[in-house]
Amino acid sequence: MNTSTILTGDRTTGPLHIGHYAGSLANRLRYQDSHEQFLLLADTQALTDNAHDPQKVQRNVIEVALDYLAVGIDPARSTICLQSHLPALAELSMLYLNFVTVARLERNPTIKDEIRARGFGRDIPAGFLCYPAAQAADITGFKATLVPVGEDQAPLIEQTNEIVRRINATAGQSVLPQAQAIIPKAGRLPGIDGKAKMSKSTGNAIPLSASPDDIRAAVRAMFTDPNHLRVQDPGRVEGNVVFTYLDAFDPDQNELAELKAQYQRGGLGDGKIKARLEAILQELIAPIRARRSQLSKDRGYVLEVIKDGTERAQTRTEATKRDVVSALGLFQL
Ligand code: ATP
Ligand code: MG
Repeated sequence: MNTSTILTGDRTTGPLHIGHYAGSLANRLRYQDSHEQFLLLADTQALTDNAHDPQKVQRNVIEVALDYLAVGIDPARSTICLQSHLPALAELSMLYLNFVTVARLERNPTIKDEIRARGFGRDIPAGFLCYPAAQAADITGFKATLVPVGEDQAPLIEQTNEIVRRINATAGQSVLPQAQAIIPKAGRLPGIDGKAKMSKSTGNAIPLSASPDDIRAAVRAMFTDPNHLRVQDPGRVEGNVVFTYLDAFDPDQNELAELKAQYQRGGLGDGKIKARLEAILQELIAPIRARRSQLSKDRGYVLEVIKDGTERAQTRTEATKRDVVSALGLFQL
């Protein structure tokens, strides 16, 4: 067993999608045998831009947990826990907010992108602007050193490490470890509409629970090359969503390289590449959907998994909070 701890999480804003699979779930599955791993159901973070709809955030706690279990996360090897029930994380967040400036939060490229995507303008909920400090609390609360995330999250890990360095410098000792992001080569998966990121909040996703018809419809509607009108025309591979998805999911990358060359030369129709992608996605999602539907009949079991994991996580995060309070020399009654 490797000694480093892994922390990842997902906002409970909707069921997980194939972007999550390519972006971090596949890595988490790989690591659960070799590492201690915590998976955080980030309901508190989800509220930072969903305060108008708390029902959605609470309903999706079970949905995301179901997705974890359906893809093969094993609660005996990985700890699934609920952010809002880990008070030490909230306390660390409050503390960390004093170790980061508003200017730095506003400069964070992930936050900038998300503010633009959500159309907040200057009306950003303060909790949203500050969530990088909360994410630093999540990561360090578990003393995690490895964080498998999508590419969009890399600046948040950077910001976490800045906070860690400040706290360690103030404490005069290395009370918190720095963390390293594990980013998959595939990068971020675009939405089926061709937008930069597939995201559960923008309705451009293929959920891991999608029905065969949903998958078919999503692939049919996918953005390819608008200038590739006839089969014999040369087509563009860059920016072609179908090829981007094939890059991420096609098990035969050699054959894919040949298909790309043929598409660029001309002579390969969109229908053919879409059929290939659809078959691959149907095969990927079918077993996940079947396990998910089975598990969703036993809500009691899913709740038990979350409760168990959250208790374990409480012990861990409380210990870290005590370490930080004592290293900084804060008052203790
Ligand atoms: P929301 O729209 O509510 O922000 P989301 O789809 O962005 O939801 P998150 O819960 O914010 O999902 O992200 C969880 C993890 O999944 C992060 O590590 C993120 O980088 C990764 N991820 C999310 N979307 C993608 C994507 N399209 N491609 C690759 N990784 C992704
Ligand atoms: Mg997100």
